[in-house]
Amino acid sequence: MAGEPQADCLFCKIIAKEIPATVVRESETTLAFRDINPQAPTHVLVIPKVHHPDAASLAAAEPQIAADVLREAGEIAFEEGVAESGYRIVFNTGSGAGQTVFHAHAHVLGGRGLNWPPG
Ligand code: 5GP
Repeated sequence: MAGEPQADCLFCKIIAKEIPATVVRESETTLAFRDINPQAPTHVLVIPKVHHPDAASLAAAEPQIAADVLREAGEIAFEEGVAESGYRIVFNTGSGAGQTVFHAHAHVLGGRGLNWPPG
């Protein structure tokens, strides 16, 4: 069922603490942890605790939780000290755009110059 934990999902396993992660923030509906392969000095992933395959699916099914993910991303940027210099919130959607984990997640990237357009 939509939103239920998926046995084969890496991020559901992190939520269940079956796989360790460096958690930076947790709320009732979200979990945020450091990316294992950081692409910037600050690279944190914010995920909903419910399972949806991408950000748009999450927003369609549970818009309040999608808003929670965005709010947490902003709080993390502030706490990490990158809010003032500028940061990026990225939702890779689909394998052609680089999505490799099909559980909705926001990348929060900052602490270095970020070029536009992205690669
Ligand atoms: P995507 O490519 O789907 O947009 O982002 C998935 C992210 O998850 C990648 O940046 C990747 O480095 C990160 N990642 C993959 N496996 C793990 C893991 O086991 N632990 C953590 N903390 N991050 C992971």
